[in-house]
Amino acid sequence: MRKVQWQEMFQDELEAAYARCPVVYFTYGMCEPHGPQNALGLDEVKAHAIACRAAHAHGGIVAPPDFWHIHEIGGYAIWAEGAIGRPERHWMTSLPPWQHFKNICYHIRAAEALRFHAAILLTGHYGPNWQDLVRLAKLLQPRVGVRLYALPEFESNYKGFTGDGRQTGDHAGKVETSLLWALRPDCVDVSRIPAGGGRPFAMGPDAPQSDRRVGERMVADEVEFLGNKAREMLAEYDALKPAHEFTTYEAVERFWREVAEPELANFESMQPKWATQPDLPADSPWRENAPVPGNWRG
Ligand SMILES: [Zn+2]
Repeated sequence: MRKVQWQEMFQDELEAAYARCPVVYFTYGMCEPHGPQNALGLDEVKAHAIACRAAHAHGGIVAPPDFWHIHEIGGYAIWAEGAIGRPERHWMTSLPPWQHFKNICYHIRAAEALRFHAAILLTGHYGPNWQDLVRLAKLLQPRVGVRLYALPEFESNYKGFTGDGRQTGDHAGKVETSLLWALRPDCVDVSRIPAGGGRPFAMGPDAPQSDRRVGERMVADEVEFLGNKAREMLAEYDALKPAHEFTTYEAVERFWREVAEPELANFESMQPKWATQPDLPADSPWRENAPVPGNWRG
């Protein structure tokens, strides 16, 4: 089969794929508890595999997967106390927001320097980080030629589990488990779902209703959504014929210093809690990294 994963391709394959369709997919996720029935890397295994299927079907190149993402801070820590509890080891690959988002600026700089026409930024890990990804793309777009579109993976699951646009995403419930089951059956084992229900290791309570065939249909919906989006972006690029000027480390550092950093305190991922969340208990192990630094600039 034609390759689409950047890190596995030869130079001539990359050049041919670029010539056919100058779209790059950047996918984001992390390792975190997803119930006893799912491999921990669900979020990025899912996002990356969907991007690969979209690139197979519609063209494009998929950037190397990024399994490090935002957690353990602010509202994420409070969520973890409630959903994950206090296992001896949680096996997470966490980063603070400023590290994650600055890395993304460098990913976009690479796409710009390679003269991609469109970059789709797809996060398979939720919480409010996706809103910040959308905001970052909007801040960057006036400065870059490559057309940007940022989205949480559930946005592309526009028909949802039931086909009527509801239940488009969850955490390790029937939606995510079905998606991963369809994409990577070796990473799902429904026999590990406990008979007693509950939310062990952050499992979604409706995980027992997971269905591989529904997962296949949702994957097909997402592939179609992403293919349409890529075509729209390529048309916009052709109409605008923009210059590619965000090509240097200096350009990234200047953007970060002058535009992103002053906005960072307003990012959703930087808030000490989400809406109606309670405070962390005094004895919670999640307190360690929960505080949003007042002077995070160091
Ligand atoms: Zn997930």
